[in-house]
Amino acid sequence: MGGDGMDTPRMEVLILKKLLITYILAGIIIAGLNQGYAPHASAETARLIDTVWHAYENWIKMLFIIAGVVLTIRLIGRQTSGKLRRRNLYGFSIAALIVHIIGPALTANSELYLFTMPLPWNSLPLQAAAAESPFYLSRLAQWGARGLSLAFVFHLVVTSIILLGTVLFGRRWQCSTLCLFNGFISEVFAPAFPIVGREKTLSSRQLQAFSVMRGIFLFLGCFFTLYWIAYLTGAHAGPWMDLMARLEVIKYLLPELFAAMFFWVVFTGRGYCFYCPAGTLIALVGRISGQRIRTNQGVCIDCKKCSQVCPMQIDIAGSAVVGEDVRSIRCVGCGHCIDRCPTATLDYTTRFLGSISLLRKGGRSE
Ligand code: SF4
Ligand code: SF4
Repeated sequence: MGGDGMDTPRMEVLILKKLLITYILAGIIIAGLNQGYAPHASAETARLIDTVWHAYENWIKMLFIIAGVVLTIRLIGRQTSGKLRRRNLYGFSIAALIVHIIGPALTANSELYLFTMPLPWNSLPLQAAAAESPFYLSRLAQWGARGLSLAFVFHLVVTSIILLGTVLFGRRWQCSTLCLFNGFISEVFAPAFPIVGREKTLSSRQLQAFSVMRGIFLFLGCFFTLYWIAYLTGAHAGPWMDLMARLEVIKYLLPELFAAMFFWVVFTGRGYCFYCPAGTLIALVGRISGQRIRTNQGVCIDCKKCSQVCPMQIDIAGSAVVGEDVRSIRCVGCGHCIDRCPTATLDYTTRFLGSISLLRKGGRSE
């Protein structure tokens, strides 16, 4: 399942794997220092750890993305059309450049990345607007009240762009173009998964377990979001504020960040996407957009290559062979199936994209 589905040359894949291992280990060490050691260290040491953390999150991440994109583009054109996958890689590169390099340089805020995922992914943007929250107080000296408000506004702008883009282009817009949490890793390092062992196929029980987790994480994300919205609107005075903020950090670190890394190592790049709360919400919005994979653009020869490369383990071939559209809530719009189809029988569309393509066809036939 998933992975790359190509006879990939060893050297590029090996380099990608090594890069990813370095990225993971550096992330674990720096996150450990940041969360575990810095709060008890001297002010000077804590500042140093903070600087290293931001350099890792912005500059080092950008360098990893550039290296990964170059290597993966070298690989994907060899056996597939690679059209949609190349677009994913360009999209993530531009998003990373804006969020990790240009944005921080313009706003003097090296933590802009905390504000780029829509609610209910994490409630930090709301905490930035809540004057007594632990997050607000921890950043006040550094950013000032104006900086905190700007970060909140930045989040609203990004969220509006993501939601509007999703209504027009479906889940592909976020999960295969903009997401700088798990989406970019899944695409930029796609040929490297899993780092250890072989590709795995999930049983239907495991898929069910992921779908239960999807519900649980959506609930948790909404719970934290509603807690802070209620505080901001004056519905409560913020009881257990510290506890709520701490619980959310634990939720982020263990079943999200470290679990995502664990999936990269033994399973697939998209493991976390099976239950990401923002992804679930976006998938529901994607329903409004009419997102689907059309399977009748050519002739399906039932080779099953599309299903073999799907990182979300969707049975595209089963639908293609009978000419049915694929409308799975799990589809992240990555386009691996479309690029891999030898008879070009698949394409990704939404209502908006369908209208554009009709207009184009109309223009050509006149
Ligand atoms: S499901 Fe979540 S983590 Fe995965 S690509 Fe979409 S927004 Fe990102
Ligand atoms: S069905 Fe969706 S998730 Fe699976 S390969 Fe195709 S576009 Fe990607």
